[in-house]
Amino acid sequence: MKKTKKYYIGIDLGGTNVVAVIVDKNGKIYGKRQFPTFGEKGPEFVIKNIVNNVKEIISEGRIFIEEIKNIGIGSPGPLDSKKGIIMGAVNLPGWRYVKLKKEIEKYLKVKTGVENDANCAVYGEKWIGAGKNVNNVVGFTLGTGVGGGIIIDGKLIRGANYNAAEIGHTSLNPDGRLCKCGAHGCLEQYASASAIANTAKEKIRNGSKSIITEIVKGDINKITSKVVYEALISGDKLAKDVWDEFIKYLGAGVANIIQTLNPEMIIIAGGVINAGKYLFEPLKKAIKKQTFPQTYEIVKIVPAKLGELAGAIGAAGIVINEPDYYGL
Ligand SMILES: [Zn+2]
Repeated sequence: MKKTKKYYIGIDLGGTNVVAVIVDKNGKIYGKRQFPTFGEKGPEFVIKNIVNNVKEIISEGRIFIEEIKNIGIGSPGPLDSKKGIIMGAVNLPGWRYVKLKKEIEKYLKVKTGVENDANCAVYGEKWIGAGKNVNNVVGFTLGTGVGGGIIIDGKLIRGANYNAAEIGHTSLNPDGRLCKCGAHGCLEQYASASAIANTAKEKIRNGSKSIITEIVKGDINKITSKVVYEALISGDKLAKDVWDEFIKYLGAGVANIIQTLNPEMIIIAGGVINAGKYLFEPLKKAIKKQTFPQTYEIVKIVPAKLGELAGAIGAAGIVINEPDYYGL
């Protein structure tokens, strides 16, 4: 009997871990798995490891490969999403001009689309998460860097050669901190989770006193954004200064996007959203100061809902909803 192709696989290829999900066309989840990327072993190993894990979760879910219509993969870029080729990825050593789409199709015999990972995360939230039924959404993922994704009129904005939405690398200060991309004063140098930790380290090395030093038992390198947050809620002055600086820059970065695109929703993702009101209340105030009343009143600033599954769910969602773009 011929099997109907009713399932899709979404894969989020990260520098440390890979997340894979099996979903149907409505985003209902039939299987999920997280496994190490083993990025240091090179592209061939990583791809075969993904293929093996996909085969396993399919059989665990009592699903046949013939029932899988498409696979979507979210990958770090820069990449050519039209051709499914990874041009290079900072956190994946040896990934230069990797034909990811072709390789996955060769091993699994399922038509595959490849998209930027930050785009996938925002698309997942728009599809079945915090941005469901909202057509103009911009997402900011605060982690080691700041990832961005833009959806206008329900469509992902990819740009002329698929490098749009690099919001983390828009400059807020051309004379500011040097970024790993080579530019100065990029948003992610001030508004990522790493930036929170780095600002605290900088101030403490310059002699500022703080309970942060006690929390990390004198080991400055152990300072993380979470440590700064702990110090903040216990009333530490230095942590408050660091946090205020983070909010000021994030607010300016988000406000620039609001003034440019007039979105209905801004979704903030990453572990930092666990700070709840300590993040969202001052952030909204900072954004309000830097936007027009008309653009501010229409926009909701909300936390992401899908957590670490957002990228994988979005990778499946984008190939389900925009198959023509990927030639599926
Ligand atoms: Zn940069």
